[in-house]
Amino acid sequence: MIASDLNTAIARLGALVEEAHFVLPFTGAGISTECGIPDFRSPGGLWSKIQPIPFDAFLAGQEMRDETWRRRFILADAIGRPQPGRGHRALASLYRTGKAPALITQNIDNLHQDSGIAPADVVELHGNTTYALCLDCARRYELGWVREKFEATARAPDCEACGGYIKTATISFGQAMPEEALRRAENMTLRCDLFLAIGSSLVVWPAAGFPLTAKRNGARLAIINREATDFDEIADLVVRQDIGDVLAPFIRH
Ligand code: NAD
Ligand code: ZN
Repeated sequence: MIASDLNTAIARLGALVEEAHFVLPFTGAGISTECGIPDFRSPGGLWSKIQPIPFDAFLAGQEMRDETWRRRFILADAIGRPQPGRGHRALASLYRTGKAPALITQNIDNLHQDSGIAPADVVELHGNTTYALCLDCARRYELGWVREKFEATARAPDCEACGGYIKTATISFGQAMPEEALRRAENMTLRCDLFLAIGSSLVVWPAAGFPLTAKRNGARLAIINREATDFDEIADLVVRQDIGDVLAPFIRH
């Protein structure tokens, strides 16, 4: 059922949360747009200008690794230091009540952790772009360190321990999905009784399979997204409003 206006949406969502025992939020780029991070699919986005580089190209040559990092730093300069938005803060409030003990995100921006959710309780399907890892030995590098080296040598640095390639801790196109995160996401999806899909166009698989799995398993499904999604038909509640506006009343200090 599609909520006709903002107040109806908030009331319905509140009732669903009230009735649930295990709420599982699942977030996409739409929850972070009010923080100044453009999503992928809304028109005129940053991503039409700064295309992501596929994993095999990153591996194939130094030039592409240099280019990947060059683009990452352009993004950093364009976006600045984003802060959690109203949606993140509302979900952190729900987390603190114990009703939503963990969440799944497709985002790579670390804003759920920044809003106070313990890193262990944020299941990241596409990794995290706010730090880097050696692809071989998994040693962690901070972006500031990579940038310093990059600017000093005009070359993407390699791992100091093993010589492996250093890449942001994200899952690039063509890179294997993180098995542990997928398994945890699947388990939680099967345990929840309310699945909240927030700010995702729900077109990227396998991520988009989770709302379907939850619904088939008997959970209720609420979708909060400005645009229609393919799953609106099977949802118990569809809210096509601004995420921050819808979730702001759920913020508790
Ligand atoms: P998407 O871009 O496909 O979909 C975002 C959806 O959010 C769109 O349907 C849009 O209409 C909606 N939306 C945007 N702002 C909104 C708002 N304020 N209120 C309500 N709805 C709003 O995003 P996706 O499904 O997450 O897939 C994109 C992939 O790209 C992600 O999996 C992620 O890995 C990556 N990405 C991440 C970030 C981030 O970390 N913040 C940003 C861009 C892309
Ligand atoms: Zn290494």
